[in-house]
Parts: sequence; structure tokens; C-alpha cells
Amino acid sequence: MPVWDSRSDGFLAYARSQHDFGAELLARHAPEQTGCCRDCGRVFPCEAHEQGVRMTEHYGYWLSDPSDAG
Ligand SMILES: [Zn+2]
Repeated sequence: MPVWDSRSDGFLAYARSQHDFGAELLARHAPEQTGCCRDCGRVFPCEAHEQGVRMTEHYGYWLSDPSDAG
């Protein structure tokens, strides 16, 4: 059993905050011309960027409007 009811407001609020955090990670951890991350200086894509990708993809699924699925 999942911990969250995916239709509850609590879950959606949580998903939205996690999605926003992931998007913030993506915005900050972007590649420089050198091919390194401009925020943490690691080889791009850095761990934080990958985490941002996972978070925005995972939680974006819950936030997407079903009518978009077409
Ligand atoms: Zn980084």
C-alpha cells in the first residue's frame, strides 16, 4: 500500500513542493562552457542535476493534468 493517497490534497502539495525543488536543482546545476556544473563544479551532469531530473519527472507525473494525456 502506498503511504499517500495520490488524489489527496496532502500528496499533491507534497508532490508540488518536491517538483519545485527538483526544478530549482535543475536551474542551479546547469553546465558551464567547460562542461562542469556551474554550481558545484563537478563534471556535468552532476549528482544534484540528476536528482533534479528524477524529481521533476517523478513528481511531474502526479502534477500533470490528465486532460493533457490526450
Ligand atoms: Zn552541480
